Amino acid sequence: MPAIDQYLQSHASRFEDELWEFLRIPSVSADPAHREDMHRAAEWMADQLRRMGFTAETIPTAGHPLVYGESPKLPGARTFLVYGHYDVQPPEPLEKWTTPPFEPSRREGHVYARGAVDDKGQVFTHLKSVEAWITVEGRLPVNLKFLIEGEEEVGSRSLEQFLSEQAERLACDCVIISDGSQFAPGVPAINYGLRGIAYYELRVTGPNRDLHSGSYGGAVTNPANALAKILAGLIDEQGRITIPGFYDEVVPLTVRERQEMAALPFEEAKFLEELGVAGAVGEAGFTSLERRWARPTFDVSGLWGGYQGEGAKTVLPASAGAKFSFRLVPNQEPEKVTTGLKWRLAELCPAGVELDLIRLAELCPAGVELDLICHHGAPGVLVPLDSPYVEAAARAIAYAFGRRPVFTREGGSIPIVTTFRQRLGVDSLLLGWGQEDDNAHSPDEKFSLADFQRGIKASARLWEELSTLSLESGKPG
Ligand SMILES: [Zn+2]
Repeated sequence: MPAIDQYLQSHASRFEDELWEFLRIPSVSADPAHREDMHRAAEWMADQLRRMGFTAETIPTAGHPLVYGESPKLPGARTFLVYGHYDVQPPEPLEKWTTPPFEPSRREGHVYARGAVDDKGQVFTHLKSVEAWITVEGRLPVNLKFLIEGEEEVGSRSLEQFLSEQAERLACDCVIISDGSQFAPGVPAINYGLRGIAYYELRVTGPNRDLHSGSYGGAVTNPANALAKILAGLIDEQGRITIPGFYDEVVPLTVRERQEMAALPFEEAKFLEELGVAGAVGEAGFTSLERRWARPTFDVSGLWGGYQGEGAKTVLPASAGAKFSFRLVPNQEPEKVTTGLKWRLAELCPAGVELDLIRLAELCPAGVELDLICHHGAPGVLVPLDSPYVEAAARAIAYAFGRRPVFTREGGSIPIVTTFRQRLGVDSLLLGWGQEDDNAHSPDEKFSLADFQRGIKASARLWEELSTLSLESGKPG
């Protein structure tokens, strides 16, 4: 290993020069004017892989090309898939940049450019760690596959298609992704869990027209009143969601997880102050981090009905509606939530109604009809903290960053991680080298050059750590 570290040290400034080259290509996937640049960036990546002895190609798609490469086959060794993206967000507004977005600039130990941290700088760390292995040792200690897409910022449609068609070719033990952040400067992190989602729209219809609330109020069910009551009924005083069976599959936090989260440098008072809220709320018995990362939640995202204009209008609206979602945690299934939600809505619907799970519209003979639209759903994902891959990554990070990583989860979802789980049946290791304030989608995007170099070192060590796992112990459970 020291020989590899030495190589990394003596080539550090060339790595930066090469990253500059990559960052100069304006590979903006959303803008058709950059089609040629997209091809150029994909070819640049494939060329990097070929130079290290990989078989690599750019694969045309309906959208932007995919870059795919494989290291020379090492029999009896494990196989890992490195995923990343070479496309970037549009740089606008240009006038907000201190230096032009596609002219990389070095200031105070950072490189400033569009794509610096998201994701060119991060994906490049894995390429350079491979280069070090190939040059110093003549080969990698594991089999690697690189899958770099050009549509991450516009929905990954071609990648989804490729994954469903080429699952066999992409077979691997685990996916490695560096496209995120550390917990804080100097506090590297492994993100081992993401929440899922089930998103709905509910429409409530009452009388055949808007009515005068003085003449009819109290005699006819008001859809806005009914909607408010229904939504309020989906959650109880303890912050628990009232859908039957909703918590049946929820994977509880382990003692170790709760300890790890409690030990994070998270200041609740600062968190609340920054948001301008008086106190923390949520499911009883859990901390704010636990609620945001590891517990299912319910939130209304849109609400309408009745008069929205200036002043007062005494109306009993004919209809009302809401958009709302449940954030899900492993192992909740969005489909099962939908079934349970329909039962619960039937219970909450005013007046004596009969349960009919298929025809919701007929559930409420008391003058209101319910119409439920399921917008989208995705399950959450969780890599067990005692997975040997997680431990291997933790050792590699500790080696390069000088301290063990903290273990974090994320309240939102990263669809591609769910897709890898579904299509390839494997876990993803989320090893972000960036920082929260790197302005990933904003002007003055940046990436710490120290973190860039540490990321390369951690990556090089990771291949070594992964290669020493015994073949049985590493099988994902
Ligand atoms: Zn990204």
